[in-house]
Amino acid sequence: MLFKLIIFLVVLALIYRWLGGKLPFIDRASSPKADHDFGDIQTTSACAQCGVYVTESDAIIHQGKAYCSAECLTQAKKGA
Ligand SMILES: [Zn+2]
Repeated sequence: MLFKLIIFLVVLALIYRWLGGKLPFIDRASSPKADHDFGDIQTTSACAQCGVYVTESDAIIHQGKAYCSAECLTQAKKGA
């Protein structure tokens, strides 16, 4: 029972990370360049095309909207 709860929490954490969330205690442990993320809080934005969360430094900003990739930006230009 408790084991299932732990698995559930791990899966939740993985989904959170997959959506662009930050887990500082994991990132710091696994990241070799730990000096960089100290106090480096990045806001995330949802891609206006596919909804994936990206940090603002990784996002492509076009006409006031954030896109996760050039591909999504191209699709948005085509679709709209
Ligand atoms: Zn996208």
